[in-house]
Amino acid sequence: MSRYANALTEAITPYTPGEQPQDQKYVKLNTNESPFPPSEKAMEYAKEHLRSLNLYPDPAAEELRSAVAMSCQAVREEVVLGNGSDELLYFAFKAFGSALRPIVSADITYGCYPVFAEALGLPYEEVPLDEGFGIRIDDYKDKHGVIVIANPNAPTGRALEMKEIDALTAAHPDDVIVVDEAYVDFGGTSVLPLTKKYDNLIVIQTFSKSRSMAGARLGFAVADRRLISDINKIRNSFNPYNINSMTMSLGLGTLKDRNYTYANCLIIEKNRNFTVSELKALGFEVLDSKANFIFARHPKISGRDLYLELKKRGVLIRHFDKERISDYNRISIGTKEQMETLIEKVREIL
Ligand code: PMP
Repeated sequence: MSRYANALTEAITPYTPGEQPQDQKYVKLNTNESPFPPSEKAMEYAKEHLRSLNLYPDPAAEELRSAVAMSCQAVREEVVLGNGSDELLYFAFKAFGSALRPIVSADITYGCYPVFAEALGLPYEEVPLDEGFGIRIDDYKDKHGVIVIANPNAPTGRALEMKEIDALTAAHPDDVIVVDEAYVDFGGTSVLPLTKKYDNLIVIQTFSKSRSMAGARLGFAVADRRLISDINKIRNSFNPYNINSMTMSLGLGTLKDRNYTYANCLIIEKNRNFTVSELKALGFEVLDSKANFIFARHPKISGRDLYLELKKRGVLIRHFDKERISDYNRISIGTKEQMETLIEKVREIL
């Protein structure tokens, strides 16, 4: 650190992303990416737009916002795009959090939430998951601020039903509820329809997982137009060109090829079922997952040792050195072949 860093910068503990090794080819099951390439149509569409890279992108991203809105039964004014959904989470925290409105989320959830809160100088409150790693809506009864729920949650994969989010939002008319649906397309239920019913609910989704575009960085938020306008105010004060033209055209192409996305999600669900039953047969305890990853532990080997042994054998999974979950590992679901390799290596290690 330089001697010029201010107190806020000095205090920040940044997020540690999953490893992205460049040296060796791994079976990569550690960052919940899609194992499938972007849709062919999306890539063709992007190629046509290469010639206009000399120009700035449309700062309002009208065409893509309209297409996203249409896919969510919303209108353009109810949608804002982000450079990944991370950016939108950050913008939402900045727009709605304050000293009196803490960011409130589960003790075991996506690691960026506390990091973003800290970077923005916002208070952060944790609500413990129940014994089975589930979110109990009742535990939020006396909590106020910006309540963030990852649904399905990460790294557990467990999901809430629409009626639970409905009840939570109804019970908190003076708070902002952010539902992070990064993994909703793998078997969860989206609460997008509830954005018509409540003016304090923001639903955030991403093109990084089910839509195979993690490298292009694209996410979107859907909410009442007044909430969206507040987030847009922050976006326009930070980087009005936050979505580059290549990503815009890839996004448009992807939305025009929804069958491809849908088919890939079904494959992931099938491969998840296969992996869960194989791991259970080997003695693993696996949480019920509605995401493109599973969270599992084995009584005979620590989470850290399994992670290290798999890494030695060319398979990367994610281990979190955190109390309550250090016995577990998060394993992304890839192709059938990748999952077969994982099972083979796990069997060898056990
Ligand atoms: N939310 C959750 C729960 C995630 O796990 C991730 C990915 N690490 C994100 C949001 C951010 O994804 P992206 O910025 O790629 O859209």
